[in-house]
Amino acid sequence: METRIIRINEHNPEPELIMEGARYIKKGKLVAFPTETVYGLGANGLNEEAVRKIFAAKGRPQDNPLILHISKISEIKPLVKSIPKEAEILMEEFWPGPLTIIFERSSLVPDVITAGIDTVAIRMPNHPVALELIEASGVPIAAPSANTSGKPSPTLAEHVIKDLYGKIDMIIDGGATGVGLESTVLDLTGDVPMILRPGGITLEAIKYFIPNVEMDLSIISSSDKIIPKSPGQKYRHYAPNADMIVFTGNIENIVEAIRNKAKEYVDSGKSVGIMATDETKNRYDEGIVISIGSRRNKGTIAHNLFNALRQFDELGVDIILSEGVETGSIGTAIMNRLKKSSGGNIIEV
Ligand code: AMP
Ligand code: MG
Repeated sequence: METRIIRINEHNPEPELIMEGARYIKKGKLVAFPTETVYGLGANGLNEEAVRKIFAAKGRPQDNPLILHISKISEIKPLVKSIPKEAEILMEEFWPGPLTIIFERSSLVPDVITAGIDTVAIRMPNHPVALELIEASGVPIAAPSANTSGKPSPTLAEHVIKDLYGKIDMIIDGGATGVGLESTVLDLTGDVPMILRPGGITLEAIKYFIPNVEMDLSIISSSDKIIPKSPGQKYRHYAPNADMIVFTGNIENIVEAIRNKAKEYVDSGKSVGIMATDETKNRYDEGIVISIGSRRNKGTIAHNLFNALRQFDELGVDIILSEGVETGSIGTAIMNRLKKSSGGNIIEV
């Protein structure tokens, strides 16, 4: 398949380029586009056949539902059975933004979007290209992250090209995404508002408006026995080619443990990647060190994390030794992604 790559001005998208993307969406084609979280792989969310192509291009398991993206709050009405009071408050506060809300679905939403379940996930992205593309298409756009299933999510158009070139119709290159991690997924259909995936909007921020919100246990637990409520959370995700170990605890202990482990691996002839931070990057003398950002500004770590994992893939290292960060605020989302990337290989030191 021919993949067209279009470079767009991310702050002031050229209307003719948006129209071109919308034309593709309306024709049932696949268009990757930037959002403020990561790049999305978009298709007309009301066109079952188009949505099926997303699963095929990504190699995504059929039982993992997709998020519908809208450009105005009024567009959710036909897609849901009802809008809870909490949703109204949160949409007002956080949309457009990295918060996905789960509603009871209406019959307009195709089964293929929801993987057959009774609920539908919806969000309004905070990115000019995404918003204008949705508006010009005139339909909700189904868009999971634009990566091969299981790989780290794309934060640059280059990542999308690497994974999906030749498998999708268009890639709209709008430069680097902002947050760098996916949206928070919040379920409002149960008795207690529940975060199923931590992301760009933190538990603390939601709690301010909805005090009884809780975090799904499987997100914070290291046990494999707790089954996640969100289908997508049960899969290995964000995984680099190399094996990966994440070290958590006191930062001095982390540095010491990584130094020792790195030496062990290097001595046995392995090539080692170290995912460090600005504050610690000079403390390692073995392996290839990449700083993913500053411990004092965890937003920078979120922004760089997936790119760093992909860089280690490019470098072809055998093992990645990664520093962990403290949970709380965006740290919870970062640790959730590190847990998944490493397949739960976390050592507390
Ligand atoms: P992605 O867009 O690929 O980054 O992932 C979307 C996430 O939202 C996955 O973890 C899905 O399992 C989750 N999701 C989408 N729709 C629903 C739903 N109706 N109920 C629970 N989780 C959902
Ligand atoms: Mg994804």
